[in-house]
Amino acid sequence: MTDRENALLAAVPNQLFIGGAWVDATGGTTFAVHDPATGQVVREVADATPDDGIRALDSAVAAQESWAATAPRARSEILRRAWELVQERAEDLALLMTVEMGKPLVEARGEVAYGGEFLRWFSEEAVRVHGRYGSNPEGTGQMIVSQHPVGPSYFITPWNFPFAMATRKIAPALAAGCTTVLKPAEATPLTSLFFAQLLAEAGLPAGVVNVVTTTSASRISAPLIADPRLRKLSFTGSTGVGRKLIAQAADTVLRVSMELGGNAPFVIFDDADLDKAVEGALAAKFRNIGQACTAANRFIVHERIAEEFAERITARVAAMRIGRGTEEGVTIGPLIDDDAVAKAAELVADAAARGAVVRTGGTRIDRPGSFYEPTVLTGVATGSAILREEIFGPVLAITTFTTEDEAVRLANDTEYGLVSYVYTRDLARGHRMIDRLETGMMGLNVGVVSNAAAPFGGVKQSGVGREGGFEGIHEYLATKYTLIPND
Ligand code: NAD
Repeated sequence: MTDRENALLAAVPNQLFIGGAWVDATGGTTFAVHDPATGQVVREVADATPDDGIRALDSAVAAQESWAATAPRARSEILRRAWELVQERAEDLALLMTVEMGKPLVEARGEVAYGGEFLRWFSEEAVRVHGRYGSNPEGTGQMIVSQHPVGPSYFITPWNFPFAMATRKIAPALAAGCTTVLKPAEATPLTSLFFAQLLAEAGLPAGVVNVVTTTSASRISAPLIADPRLRKLSFTGSTGVGRKLIAQAADTVLRVSMELGGNAPFVIFDDADLDKAVEGALAAKFRNIGQACTAANRFIVHERIAEEFAERITARVAAMRIGRGTEEGVTIGPLIDDDAVAKAAELVADAAARGAVVRTGGTRIDRPGSFYEPTVLTGVATGSAILREEIFGPVLAITTFTTEDEAVRLANDTEYGLVSYVYTRDLARGHRMIDRLETGMMGLNVGVVSNAAAPFGGVKQSGVGREGGFEGIHEYLATKYTLIPND
């Protein structure tokens, strides 16, 4: 670790943020945060207990009424100020993410820009929450439809985008007038703690955002979800955990937003611009070392161009520079932990046993930290686990198709429906694919779609609800209808 990294880490708060104060966990317990590129412990942070979780909810509940009554313009200005502070501290935030999560620094900077944008976007949306007013069809009364903050909200976020997954929930909630409790992933708590400090600096009143870091995700979450004072749960993570949380939320009929797993198809037709398809494929597959819900999981390539695509992409992948994300020119950092490496290795072994050819990569890298070689597989057979499961690693698996109908059938052959990528020069075909693919988002001739101004979310078992765009704030608003008779 460099002196700069040490100084930055030492300055990050490592306690719980509850009611506007930094406090120890009950019993003073802590847990270690690691750098996945070296395996080194970089900081100890407070390990919250279920009582601490309830204390955080108490403080969110206590702050709810006055935050909801705060003028939208005032809420907007705090969000705007938070966005400005993120710009000022962008380099620190990026470095912190690279250290605790492993992504290359250039990508961490990209996440700061992307994640920060939710603060700016929702600072603008905060003052544009509108209702409706009109006569009823019978002409006997006036109908008013108004929007109100849903209330205290609980957020559970994953480790792969430690900053953006938090801002994507916190910004619309604050804009709508909701108070919040955030539980970041155990592997990456530092980014959220740093961000909480920026929110306080931006003038956010005590109790509006609370952060509890913990190794006991389910023990902390269950009592919060069961508490009738909680009005909203927003979760980003795996579909398996999402299912459990939806079941828990059923008891109090809690409103939920679920941003779950993906198994994105990347379909390349034989009329595609192959140069663009190769660039798009590299971005869609290897961003975040393949650890993105939006990562292209299955490359479905027309048989006429499949070999040329495989050769070109293999050459690029074989030349990728692997290392700690802080090193110049590195595009492949470590995976989050050794389990992730083992999973990538198992999926590759299963595909190879079923006849796939390893064109490059295919092995764990022998160095400290959790590294797996960027890998390209061709001839991946139907039935291979890699086509069914989220890879969450730097492995690009290619299968082929002949007809458009077959491409559609293969692309939709999954329980997930988060994002799909399609490359074609044929406009009519592009429109047909928009209609026919079962997906919440689509990149037509582009490999990255995320944008704070767009509704992010999935269909099927990729989730419910949308984050970002005009839709994002409505996840935190309750619609109220009032009838006023004319006489
Ligand atoms: P995960 O489901 O293991 O964990 C996500 C969060 O849930 C963490 O904070 C974890 O501590 C918490 N958690 C785990 N078990 C819990 C339980 N029983 N009760 C309450 N909380 C619990 O997922 P992960 O490994 O951190 O992240 C990777 C997954 O997230 C992938 O499936 C990926 O596709 C998905 N993801 C989805 C999106 C999206 O927007 N759709 C974005 C990023 C990641």
